Amino acid sequence: MKGHLLVTGGAGFIGANFISHLLANSNYYITNVDALTYAGSKENINEFSNSNRYRFIKCDIGNENELNKIFDQSYEAIINFAAESHVDRSIENAKPFIHTNINGTFNLLQAVLQGKANKMIQISTDEVYGTLGPKDPPFTELNPLTPNNPYSASKASADLLVRSYYQTHQLPLMITRCGNNYGPMQHTEKFIPKIIKNALTNNPIPLYGDGLNVRDWIYVIDHCRAIQMVLEKGVFGQVYNIGGTEEKTNREVIDTILSKLGKDIQLIQHVQDRKGHDRRYAMDSKKITRELGWKPVVSFEEGIQNTIDWYKQKEHKLL
Ligand code: NAD
Repeated sequence: MKGHLLVTGGAGFIGANFISHLLANSNYYITNVDALTYAGSKENINEFSNSNRYRFIKCDIGNENELNKIFDQSYEAIINFAAESHVDRSIENAKPFIHTNINGTFNLLQAVLQGKANKMIQISTDEVYGTLGPKDPPFTELNPLTPNNPYSASKASADLLVRSYYQTHQLPLMITRCGNNYGPMQHTEKFIPKIIKNALTNNPIPLYGDGLNVRDWIYVIDHCRAIQMVLEKGVFGQVYNIGGTEEKTNREVIDTILSKLGKDIQLIQHVQDRKGHDRRYAMDSKKITRELGWKPVVSFEEGIQNTIDWYKQKEHKLL
């Protein structure tokens, strides 16, 4: 068990980057548990199988009858990335979000309660805090949870379950809440990969509403480094906000990518705004910087270039 982590959702975007980061920068053994939904990619995880510190188990964390498969041993820590993660899909049908994000987290908490892991980190999101006005200060860990869409409500519900298991049972639990990630291995349904894919293939790039919604972007490896610090130095019962301090409007992000790819802004197609679309997110990461010594090191300029380069290598698969 010592040094053996259970990573859920490791075939998805952030989970796969986290496993890749840890295989290269630590000695942990890793069990990756993923249901391989439409969002999980075998390609993301193929190369990990070359490591003798890695194993994969296909399992739905929302189905308690399947969990025996993964708890054939106890773990040093569970890091719970597994989730339904696309807001638009949650507006169409919230049911899978309740199943995975809430019931799945509950099942993992029960496992910790039964002594099957020494700690658990719940990977959460800035979206649980709701939306900010243009002049509001960034979200701190003390902001109330006021989610505005079914995705963020399911994540906030999971956070509250985690909090309650800490308060009630004094379990070794922590929560991280991060801003919008970008980088390699993200599904092309998401904002930045979709822009890159559509620009590379000369297809229209949809832009919601007036394009002035603001997100706080962070390069995925900076997020992974923060989670590793929480794993190794975090204090039980604490919440840690993680942000890239790179606030950008959606329009600015599209313009940057089009300009780097030498494509015309005529590709932008204004579409009807998302229902309940949060206007602005921004994270105050002072706590994790002060207490654990983390800060982001990859600028948007550098990270977006890496991301574009990665998708360009995959261009033949995007066509
Ligand atoms: P993703 O959609 O790319 O990956 C999710 C993974 O979970 C997929 O591999 C999927 O197959 C797996 N999964 C889904 N349901 C499952 C189930 N029932 N059992 C086991 N596995 C299941 O998501 P992501 O962008 O990598 O996000 C990972 C986590 O980080 C999520 O919890 C999300 O809320 C959080 N987060 C994401 C961002 C972001 O910008 N992407 C920002 C902050 C927080």
